[in-house]
Amino acid sequence: MLSYEEARALVFEHVKPREKVKRPLTESQGLALSENIIAPHGLPVFDNSAVDGYAVQATDLSRASKDNPVRLKKLGYIAAGDTGEEQMNSGQCLQIATGAPLPPGADTVVMKEDIEFNESFVYFTQAILKTQNVRNKGEDIQKGRIMIPAGTLIGPAQIAVLSTFGYAQVPVHRLPKISIVSTGSELVDVEGKPQAGQIRESNRFMLAGMVRQESCELVKISLVPDIPEILIQAFEEALQTDVALISGGMSVGDKDFARPLLKKMGVEEIFWKIKFKPGKPLFFGRRGKTLVFGLPGNPASSYVLFEEFVRPALRKLMGRKILEETMVKATLDEPITETLNRLHFMRGQLREKNGKFRVRPLAFQGSHSISSLVESNALIRVEADSPVLPEGSQVLVRPLRNEIG
Ligand code: AMP
Ligand code: MG
Repeated sequence: MLSYEEARALVFEHVKPREKVKRPLTESQGLALSENIIAPHGLPVFDNSAVDGYAVQATDLSRASKDNPVRLKKLGYIAAGDTGEEQMNSGQCLQIATGAPLPPGADTVVMKEDIEFNESFVYFTQAILKTQNVRNKGEDIQKGRIMIPAGTLIGPAQIAVLSTFGYAQVPVHRLPKISIVSTGSELVDVEGKPQAGQIRESNRFMLAGMVRQESCELVKISLVPDIPEILIQAFEEALQTDVALISGGMSVGDKDFARPLLKKMGVEEIFWKIKFKPGKPLFFGRRGKTLVFGLPGNPASSYVLFEEFVRPALRKLMGRKILEETMVKATLDEPITETLNRLHFMRGQLREKNGKFRVRPLAFQGSHSISSLVESNALIRVEADSPVLPEGSQVLVRPLRNEIG
């Protein structure tokens, strides 16, 4: 059986970013850049005022004080958007708006709050350092600087930069298309009333939600009973997408048809079963360009396996460089006494106290536990054959994006 690390390495080896495409700026959030964004010009583009005030020559004001105000002649007003070509000289000033170009002849701007005004003269009552309140050409960004490296997820900050530099079309990777098939004859849909022996299905909606967190495109989600002909049909449809997530039927039960059927349908098995809890029977395969994850049906197994295997794979397909949340070091608030002969990612509660992370494993770690889904916001890594970990031990923890009241 493969270790967690070996299995993850195999997954990453088989995942290649989707094609490079262009998308309109307004539709680019949540996608990853396929090229470095290099500043085509410097910023600011021209010297301009940082405040609403008066453009002056600082030397004119060197002796200004409350008792000895300096009087300068006001020539006019430069609004934001004006070309700012009006020349001014010593003894003169120009009213200027925030963002308006500094006129030739001026080197400094005095804030409007600091002047007194009388007809066509402006009175200055304090000296000012040269270049004060001026935003200099090129001070923020130099032409040619790598602003955003390829592989970065586009969010509002990246959109501001792309927009500033005129990227109406943004170079990104195509989003992977995902399909989800939940299998199980005991499963009824959310509106259904379970009869004896049945339960309501939850994995396909949970997995769809996780896929949506990564902005990937959901093509189809379906629920099918453990009947080979029906399974084959659903799998065939799912195999038309970039990633097929199959839930349930991956273990060794008599009705666990998923794995043998997938193989019969031409899916190459890259691995099946890992030394990991929860979710030992994880299946990973491919057919052509389609990747197939077979997730055991127990909800907590599906959930944790998605976090550790599927989410980073989706990110790599998207062309992202950061594939997962970095693990953090935390102190155990409670001991971990039960250890296993396989790596265990325990669901737990992570919190911050005085700038340090503390974590508590949930008491109930069943792979079928639904309560653990809403009560955990972290996964605690407990090594195979780990000794008992007393309270106060340091552990590695993967924070999860999950709010726990
Ligand atoms: P399986 O992996 O198909 O053997 O299922 C393992 C356990 O998970 C069984 O108790 C199933 O009833 C349950 N289960 C399987 N699929 C789902 C699902 N989609 N939603 C909720 N529970 C499920
Ligand atoms: Mg089943």
